[in-house]
Amino acid sequence: MTITYEYEGALYVNLTNKCNCNCEFCLRHGKKEGSIYTEDSLWLEREPTRQEALNSFLSRDIPSYREIVFCGYGEPTYRLDDILWLVDELKERFGDQLPPVRINTNGHANLINGRDVCPELKGRIDTLSISLNANNAADYVALCHPIQGEVAYQAMLDFAKEAKTYVSHVVFTVVDKGTDPAEIEKSRSIAQSLGVKLRVRAFIDS
Ligand code: SF4
Repeated sequence: MTITYEYEGALYVNLTNKCNCNCEFCLRHGKKEGSIYTEDSLWLEREPTRQEALNSFLSRDIPSYREIVFCGYGEPTYRLDDILWLVDELKERFGDQLPPVRINTNGHANLINGRDVCPELKGRIDTLSISLNANNAADYVALCHPIQGEVAYQAMLDFAKEAKTYVSHVVFTVVDKGTDPAEIEKSRSIAQSLGVKLRVRAFIDS
């Protein structure tokens, strides 16, 4: 079971395959037969315990990484309590030598956890990379299919806006899948209106 893995000098962490969305572009769809992701070990046979995740961290040279990234396959904030516990444990051991910590998220942490988690991110999470993905709720639902429906779009925007108070770097991402430049500009305006940066990331075909 792969819990932590290296990618371009960063240490990535995979704690869950759960998600409240079912995005059209999700790499999890690559599990289909014939996909380059079919054999991918990021599919967890079960979720690791927080202690197993900590052990996986401690088997590595933590200060040597440029960043620690909690990401998928899945929405990492389903394991937010464990993420925060892990960061606390690592901070206790590595202090200032701990690399910056990022969460790649769909921005639904408050919906998923049923509480406002933003204050708990303070002093623990350095970067939140939030998938914006669409410029209105209807397009968002058509692309990401959140189980909560259209309310998930506003919840994601609200989360980004509030998280800025507690997290130094909050970034929206959109996937560039031949997207109309005018739509990218709309995304940029939404990001700017919330005081958040926008990053356009490449689509990886699975
Ligand atoms: S939010 Fe992320 S993990 Fe969830 S379906 Fe979308 S791309 Fe996949």
